[in-house]
This record gives sequence, structure tokens and C-alpha cells, in this order.
Amino acid sequence: MTLAAADVGAAAAGAAGWGELTDAVSRCTACAELVASRTRVVPGTLPDRRADVLLVGEAPGAQEDEAGVPFVGRSGVLLDRLLAEAGLSRDRVAVANVLKCRPPANRKPRRLEVAHCRPWLARQLDLADPQVVVALGGTAAEWFFGPSARIAALRESEQHYAGRRVVVTYHPSAAIRFGPNGSPLAALRTDLAEAARVVAGTRPGPE
Ligand code: SF4
Repeated sequence: MTLAAADVGAAAAGAAGWGELTDAVSRCTACAELVASRTRVVPGTLPDRRADVLLVGEAPGAQEDEAGVPFVGRSGVLLDRLLAEAGLSRDRVAVANVLKCRPPANRKPRRLEVAHCRPWLARQLDLADPQVVVALGGTAAEWFFGPSARIAALRESEQHYAGRRVVVTYHPSAAIRFGPNGSPLAALRTDLAEAARVVAGTRPGPE
């Protein structure tokens, strides 16, 4: 059974676990243009063990759309390397995007699409219950802090959303675009190290 825009809020709120939510997201048809162009829905991933970190990106790219898994392209390779450098274990990292379906030609998500998709990520935040969220890029920053959110300004101080620490930083695609000597890569490295410090400072005992 498909889920229309009017059904998303209740379906997300009613999902008892990540698997149930993933199943519901996969049946979502709220955004007609994205439904027509997507290959696969990309709900996100939750590690088997408890998530220390939830990474939030913008939307699936071409490779994610093919694979049904977020961050499997060049951005994902870079992210994996930087997570390892920061000492963040990949098997304690959950990943989700603001949009679960690829916009045609990788265009920016539209405001209505973000609004339609919002309950899915909101519920993922509850279900993953991470020590820290890392918002990767402007679209993720706006999801948490509103349309006037600016990455550079938000990086200047500690940010929180619904009582949870949120580290705002650049999307790995910006780090790739600006190259190895660009400021986005340096910022991403610094900010993932900060996320690792938050985890180290708040991690409870083994589950
Ligand atoms: S982007 Fe989100 S709200 Fe829109 S169809 Fe995909 S899952 Fe549904």
C-alpha cells in the first residue's frame, strides 16, 4: 500500500522501530516528481549496535539512487575516511538524508518536498537516539535551524536541536569540489573530530 503526503505524518509517528519505518518510507509517494524519477527510495541506515552518531545529508545522488543506500559514492568514500580519522567507528554511525528520493539531475530539494519528507527524518532521529547529530551541508542545516541557517555562522558556537547536540558542517561533496586544500575539507575534519569528542564525553556503558 502506498503512502500519500497526507499519510506520512501518521505513518512516521506510528513506526515502532527503524525497520518498520524503512518499510513505510519505501512505500512513500508524497512527491510525485521524485516518485517518477527515482530508481529506489533511500531510507537510511542504522547500525546493528546503538548509534553514537546520526549523519544527516541532503538527498540521494545517482549511486545512492541505484543502490538504495546513502553515501556510497565519492562523498561516502571521503566520509568513511574522515570518520576513521576522527576515531568514529562506522558501525556506530547511522545515516539518513533530508530527502529519501533523488531529485532529478541532483537539483536542490524543493521546500514542499522537504516538508513532505520531514516526519520521516524526525522519527529517525527519535529511533536512532544518537549522542550527536552531524548536519552535512546547507539543506541539513536548514532542516534543523530554519531557512536562514548558515553553516559558517552555526559553526561558531554549539548548536542543539530538541535537546540534542548538532554539529553543523559542510557536505563532503563541497569538500571534494573545493579540493584537498579547500576550507570545507578542513572544516569537515575539524567538525567530525568535535563530534567524536561529544561521543567520547557522553557515551554510556555497553548496550
Ligand atoms: S522524498 Fe520523502 S516525502 Fe517525498 S516521496 Fe520520497 S520519501 Fe516520500
